[in-house]
Amino acid sequence: MTVEFDYDLFVIGAGSGGVRAARMAASKGKKVAVAEDRYLGGTCVNVGCVPKKLFVYASQFPEFFHASKGFGWTIDGTPSLDWATLRDNKTAEIERLNGIYNSLIDNSGADLFDGRATVAGPNLVTVNGETYRAKNILIATGGWPYIPEFPGSEHAVSSNEMFSLDKLPKTAVVVGGGYIAVEFAGILNGLGVQTHLVYRGPQLLKSFDREMSDKVKEGMLVKGVNIHLNTQINEINKTVDGLSVDLHTGLSLDAELVLYATGRQANTANLGLENTAVALRDNGSIVVDECFSTAEPSIYALGDVIDRVQLTPVAIQEAMVLVDHLYGDGIAKIDYSDIPTAVFCQPELGTVGLSEEQARSEYADIAVYTSDFKPMLQTLGGGADRITMKLVVDTETDKVVGCHMVGEHAAEIIQGLGIALKAGATKAHFDATVGIHPSAAEEFVTMRTQSR
Ligand code: NDP
Repeated sequence: MTVEFDYDLFVIGAGSGGVRAARMAASKGKKVAVAEDRYLGGTCVNVGCVPKKLFVYASQFPEFFHASKGFGWTIDGTPSLDWATLRDNKTAEIERLNGIYNSLIDNSGADLFDGRATVAGPNLVTVNGETYRAKNILIATGGWPYIPEFPGSEHAVSSNEMFSLDKLPKTAVVVGGGYIAVEFAGILNGLGVQTHLVYRGPQLLKSFDREMSDKVKEGMLVKGVNIHLNTQINEINKTVDGLSVDLHTGLSLDAELVLYATGRQANTANLGLENTAVALRDNGSIVVDECFSTAEPSIYALGDVIDRVQLTPVAIQEAMVLVDHLYGDGIAKIDYSDIPTAVFCQPELGTVGLSEEQARSEYADIAVYTSDFKPMLQTLGGGADRITMKLVVDTETDKVVGCHMVGEHAAEIIQGLGIALKAGATKAHFDATVGIHPSAAEEFVTMRTQSR
């Protein structure tokens, strides 16, 4: 007996990974549905990468205003920020992008369901009261901010709420030491909010090259962020003026806003996965193999919900690999090594490949080249920003195994170096490359003296 399916692929979640998979599958002539109950474009477009970057730009203006004087400009009066304008312009831009996502799905020929979908069985999806038969189901439901429970934790907000605050606070405490915490500490500080960053461990951005994360910390301190390392929070209490954050040290910090950026968890609750054989880890994320198959043969999962690498471009690559596996020649594989990444903290951090510490444990002998200098903008601008760059080389093969940068345009510069690392570039290739002068990036091809 042949089973009639309503859809070849039913995608749950219209974020970066889900939409890419849906569009690619539809372009291969498959009958595709996408269900989304919140916003098109997922975390990245709505409460992540895109609005965050707009806020980062907004927060950098005070330094530009300051630097402009050295270049001969006079600004009459003190520049001031209208938070509502920034927030609402940001929202208008996000709504424009939501519309683009809508058209992308529409033009691909996929059906879009505006509603919460649940899995009713290995080949069944229920949405808006109807149940559809799907040959394959893709779970691309992403993640959600996690805030630990403790006395007063209900007073803390997550990154989600940061994008729609009624009012910019005068004082803020940001908790965490990862991407989101350092990025928002920089944004708030730049926007003029007196900012405290509280992290329970000894080192911010601990999964990055140690020297680089130290440079980020130093740069943040210079810009005025108050950093409290090795510090736990006992409780948060409401006060007449706002909130009081009690630290384990006995100190307490008064703030109008407390942001918890303490990680994100997979969105798998109440999805109906108990009606299937899909296996979950203790943290709720979905276990998949290299082709993104779950333990239920008809169901696949990718993106933040599988908790491998929580980055938009990774989810997009995963989607391409899945579609190739399902409807192509099945040879595409995802390579999780040498993923370039940037933290849009201030100063910015960009990195690809191994940290010096990782390289030391993986290779018998490494050579490290570093450069630390003042960017040209600061010479007349009078700012304190510096740039630090590092190349980590395996001496046996001469291959560059890690590139790291802290400072202006780190993300833009490291993206290109990501290609060099993927191509297996050696230090000799870097040395043979002509620099672009004057640029900061040229320093990556002119480092000749080994630091270590
Ligand atoms: P991260 O995993 O990067 O950092 C979480 C931080 O919270 C860690 O410092 C962790 O400390 C701390 N933490 C966890 N639990 C607790 C707790 N109970 N009490 C106190 N502190 C705690 O998560 P983020 O939320 O910053 O970001 C989530 C992911 O989103 C990132 O990993 C990244 O993949 C992605 N992202 C990427 C961005 C980019 O590409 N620029 C920007 C923003 C997010 P400890 O280290 O001690 O466990």
